[in-house]
Amino acid sequence: MSSIKKIGVFTSGGDAPGMNACIRAVVRTGIFHGMEVVGIHQGYQGMIEKKFINMDARSVRNIIQLGGTVLKTARCAEFRTPEGRAKAYNNLKEEGIDALVAIGGDGTFTGAELLSREFDIPVIGVPGTIDNDLYGSDFTLGYDTATNTVLEAIDKIRDTAASHDRLFFVEVMGRDSGCIALHSGVAGGAEAILLPEKETAIDDLIMKLEEGALSNKSSSIVIIAEGDKNGGAYNVAKRVKEKFNFYDIKVTILGHLQRGGTPSSFDRVLACRLGYAAVKALVAGENRKMVGLRGNEIQLTNIEEAINNHSYKLEDDLVEMAAILSI
Ligand code: ATP
Repeated sequence: MSSIKKIGVFTSGGDAPGMNACIRAVVRTGIFHGMEVVGIHQGYQGMIEKKFINMDARSVRNIIQLGGTVLKTARCAEFRTPEGRAKAYNNLKEEGIDALVAIGGDGTFTGAELLSREFDIPVIGVPGTIDNDLYGSDFTLGYDTATNTVLEAIDKIRDTAASHDRLFFVEVMGRDSGCIALHSGVAGGAEAILLPEKETAIDDLIMKLEEGALSNKSSSIVIIAEGDKNGGAYNVAKRVKEKFNFYDIKVTILGHLQRGGTPSSFDRVLACRLGYAAVKALVAGENRKMVGLRGNEIQLTNIEEAINNHSYKLEDDLVEMAAILSI
């Protein structure tokens, strides 16, 4: 029998579709195991400000399909200080919370790891970020939905681009990781994909676009991850415009719409599996682990390892394939 009687669950860092489905899974699995479950509003900020609410099985009804997070999320500077974490821990203790499930990205895990080590409170992390950049899980919550949202936008842009013989530069999220850009670009048939992990010379890009125009392409779409070294879609468009005059050039920045929306079936199932596994890991006495999906199996990885190896490993074969399939 686990000695854990009351667990806290929270979402932190950037919101991601699927977080609500995960909260539901954590609450119901916890209750199934005879625990009380407390929702902590606004992540670490809520821990410091005692924003605790008791959750029961019905309090998470009708949220599996919702984007965002019903527990809200926040970025909390105070928690980065030892004093802030002590305040948070004292509030958890006063509330009788024995263990935590942290849903977020590498920053969230860094905070959770510190809290757990400093105050000996068990923590299990669930990878929740659209960036898909956490070691120990092939996919993070929200990535699949975000990529499909981008794809829907690319398809719509393609309609107008082809009707007017236009060249579109579409900027997508990914400051350090080109995962969303690469996968949505491949799926959307983009003529070129600019990634933070690779340098793209503007002259090479222009040459590729000119080849396309001369071979009768009626439109071109270039996907640019926001972290691309050329400085984002507006900069790239400006530099291309100076030398390229085949098509009318337009820029679309997709921005925060990529974070929202109802989670895909993949993200919902993943959220259920990871939330369920997180509570089971606590019951089994695990601590400072991240639950993740590897192959089709749920596996545990040391949080420290997940943080230290945090970054998306670009699939070079996909990059090469994307260039060939867009000739
Ligand atoms: P995303 O990948 O979507 O940005 P994230 O979890 O990495 O999610 P961050 O803003 O980096 O988002 O981290 C969330 C919160 O975790 C921070 O606001 C802060 O409260 C806490 N945190 C991050 N880094 C640390 C740290 N080094 N020490 C203590 N707490 C931290």
